[in-house]
Amino acid sequence: MDDDLLELRRMLEAAERVVVFTGAGISTESGIPDFRSPGGVWTRMKPIYFQEFVASESARVESWRRKFESDPVMRAAAPNRGHRAVAALVDRGKVSHVVTQNIDGLHQASGIPDHQVIELHGNATYAHCLDCQKRFELDAIRPVFEATLKPPRCDECGGLVKSATVSFGQPMPPAAMIRAEEAILACDLCLVAGSSLVVYPAAGFPELAKRQGAVLAIVNREPTDMDPIADLVLHREIGATLGEVVGNN
Ligand code: NAD
Ligand code: ZN
Repeated sequence: MDDDLLELRRMLEAAERVVVFTGAGISTESGIPDFRSPGGVWTRMKPIYFQEFVASESARVESWRRKFESDPVMRAAAPNRGHRAVAALVDRGKVSHVVTQNIDGLHQASGIPDHQVIELHGNATYAHCLDCQKRFELDAIRPVFEATLKPPRCDECGGLVKSATVSFGQPMPPAAMIRAEEAILACDLCLVAGSSLVVYPAAGFPELAKRQGAVLAIVNREPTDMDPIADLVLHREIGATLGEVVGNN
């Protein structure tokens, strides 16, 4: 095994309470495109900010059109070797929590219990009312939207219905932020996999881990802004790297 892989394995063995921090890069091998790789979503279209969604009916229509266009890809996706390696570490009691920027639910699908997955940017597999929080299933919204091209409204309170994800400009979910901070403050190793580490406040968590004295390791096929403060950086593919280090297929 190469030296950098052995070093990551040694760090994992020495650690007692690991937090794995993941971004879109851990799910590209499951067929879900990330945002910032060449050819990623942001190189093809502009994000719709939360304020635009709230203020403009045409922004809501465009947002729902994109949502239903990308939904089949997300539904068809299954956990890959990287997700399975993380799940194995949780199962061994090595990893206390997975803090994720992802909205695809693949960590839960890989078998990690809900209480150990902290979703910073919400979940794309359902929608909710922005006013009363009532939950709506995508399968119920889709036929009505496609027939009327009107963005959905809440049948209880008339509020705007939006995918249960956190858009640019939208407040972060307070409970997830508190849980993530607690997990990070208690960890002795933070392993980052597949995040460009440019989206704040999420990217502040690996930084916080390092500042409170934890070891910081980053796996990403490209350099990130936090490489200079990391104790170990592996510019490698996530599935093969974590699979080999953890010893799973
Ligand atoms: P990002 O797109 O900004 O960065 C992904 C990083 O992963 C890049 O640095 C890229 O080099 C790296 N990467 C991609 N595939 C890799 C692989 N196989 N092996 C190693 N490295 C790989 O993602 P981000 O930092 O998570 O920020 C994007 C935001 O968009 C997230 O906060 C999330 O909310 C959302 N998002 C989620 C999903 C998802 O749930 N799967 C997908 C796209 C975007
Ligand atoms: Zn409502």
